[in-house]
Amino acid sequence: MTYPDLNTPPRILLGPGPSSVHPRVLRTMATPVTGYMDPAFLEIVQEVRTLIQQTYRTENDLTLAVSGTGTSGMEALISNLVEPGDPVLVGVNGFFGERLAEMAHRHGGEVERLEAPWGQVFDPAQVDAALQARPAKLVAMVHAETSTGALQPEVEAIAAACHRHGALLILDCVTSLGGLSVELDAWGVDGAYSATQKCLSAPPGLAPLSLNPRGVAAIENRSSPPPVFYLDLLLLRKQWSEQPAYHHTSPISAVFALREALRMAMEEGLEARIERHRRNAEALWAGLESLGLEPFIPREHRLPTLTTVRVPEAVDDVAIRRQLLEDFNLEIAGGFGPLAGKIWRIGLMGHSSRRENVTLLLAALAELLPG
Ligand SMILES: *Cc1c(COP(=O)(O)O)cnc(C)c1O
Repeated sequence: MTYPDLNTPPRILLGPGPSSVHPRVLRTMATPVTGYMDPAFLEIVQEVRTLIQQTYRTENDLTLAVSGTGTSGMEALISNLVEPGDPVLVGVNGFFGERLAEMAHRHGGEVERLEAPWGQVFDPAQVDAALQARPAKLVAMVHAETSTGALQPEVEAIAAACHRHGALLILDCVTSLGGLSVELDAWGVDGAYSATQKCLSAPPGLAPLSLNPRGVAAIENRSSPPPVFYLDLLLLRKQWSEQPAYHHTSPISAVFALREALRMAMEEGLEARIERHRRNAEALWAGLESLGLEPFIPREHRLPTLTTVRVPEAVDDVAIRRQLLEDFNLEIAGGFGPLAGKIWRIGLMGHSSRRENVTLLLAALAELLPG
């Protein structure tokens, strides 16, 4: 039996991730693989570490990319910071908040859920009140909730509330890092994780992560080592140091790709990149509204990197998305959980956030939607 050459359709990825990968990043992945202890590779690892620090705007020493997608970054922070019996407060206003709560529970945390309906965001006073009523070791929240399209504002005030009550704050930055303002140190966020395939536009496979010295101390003060060897952050810190020890084989080509993607972000400039995401989102929002589509999230909490609109009455959600894919090579996504069948989710992340993509999607929708 023989198999033909791979020949995937030339999709334009406007869903919740992965986003389209820039040709420069794709070419970099064809760089010959080195050994993981090769001095040439070790130099690249240090460059990537510095680039991740710059992107998060942090000086945290424990900054690295976990081998795995965004969820591996989430589990790395949870499994290192949560010990059985630890009180944990999790903001749940969408799918990824749910996942954080589930994960903290599986690692033995006594999880309290701070709940809001999907699509809404939290007020720092709510976090403060919840911690006043029951102190927690750790608070976990999502910055950009990809399941709803809502951006959590006032992270700095939330971090301050956490610290007033002696809690650490970790923030899911999967759909914000590289597309929205993320200021780890200025905001006082203790730990954060992201993924390569959203606003950074590298292929999926690594989770850029950063943890400040308070978070590191919390790991060092555990009564037993973290239960997941593969995600042990103190061992990974050693692997990402200038004198590494073998822990597991680095995904060499993925590290090369991340380096190129981050280098491109720095060439563009973070401010300019955030502004590009904002500008293209504004154009999309205006176009969708002129097509009569109703935004799901009010403007002040709307994510520029992921837009949600209600599927109009009498429109077949699945059929429209299939036609977008088959006739236009455009991928957008539907909703899930309580929003299944109710919303479309349109990502403009990284290399996918381009004016021509906005125009193409709007033209395709104008053709496909009735009226
Ligand atoms: C995509 C996403 C994740 C999970 O990342 P994977 O790369 O799919 O493992 C976590 N949080 C948010 C907000 C996401 O959008």
